[in-house]
Amino acid sequence: MSLLSRIRVVLVGTQHPGNIGSAARAMKTMGLSALVLVAPEAFPDPRADALAVGAVDLLQRARVCATLDEAVADCTRVAAATARPRHISAPVYTPREWVQRLAASEHAGQVALVFGRERTGLTNQEVDRAQELVAIPTGGEYTSLNLAAAVQILAYELLLASGASPLELPVHEPVDQVEMERFYTHLEAILVRTQFLDRTNPRLLMRRLRKLYGRAAPDANEMNILRGILTSVTDALERERKR
Ligand code: SAH
Repeated sequence: MSLLSRIRVVLVGTQHPGNIGSAARAMKTMGLSALVLVAPEAFPDPRADALAVGAVDLLQRARVCATLDEAVADCTRVAAATARPRHISAPVYTPREWVQRLAASEHAGQVALVFGRERTGLTNQEVDRAQELVAIPTGGEYTSLNLAAAVQILAYELLLASGASPLELPVHEPVDQVEMERFYTHLEAILVRTQFLDRTNPRLLMRRLRKLYGRAAPDANEMNILRGILTSVTDALERERKR
């Protein structure tokens, strides 16, 4: 079972339904889909749908539970995201450390990642349900991220650890050497015609131009343009001659 499909995001006592929608969007963009809400203050709610945008399906499939115990009952591992690590409790990891440990672990089963309320976070009792804590490092004393922003960061780390590749860029395919040699022959002929190149004293011109165009490694479209330019020079010279 893939790492992403084992993750269940549990939002406890969310106060603003907009944050539920934003969290769903954060999840879906990173390939997470299991969302469980524990006693949300307002859900379903059009404000959640509005902020979920293309992730409304996650909201429709979200399970709503009365208690955290119910939400994590069938999970083999529970982690809590907290802005305020408390001394008593479980080990605290950064998102990256936590995700790496999870990916390396041989334990199977559903993993709950629990997030707290906007105003008050998680209670001590709720935190004690977790075997490990995840704290997102912050730049200053203000350590409290927006709930959905915290979900986004965890979801992103999970996605990276599950081997995501960057969005596919179009591949650049330079033309082959036969095409390049045809181009240089054509270019040289034109430069001789325009008298830019003196065959009796060519110096390093063609070698320099080879270096320049070789570095550019034109693709088929670009080569068409270059050859088109050369042809247009020939045509222009012909028109001049006929005048
Ligand atoms: N004032 C609350 C913060 C709540 S923010 C408190 O002091 O706990 C809502 C939720 O977002 C938190 O319960 C936590 O799950 C998550 N969160 C916010 N900032 C975080 C951080 N720096 N690291 C990990 N989780 C964070």
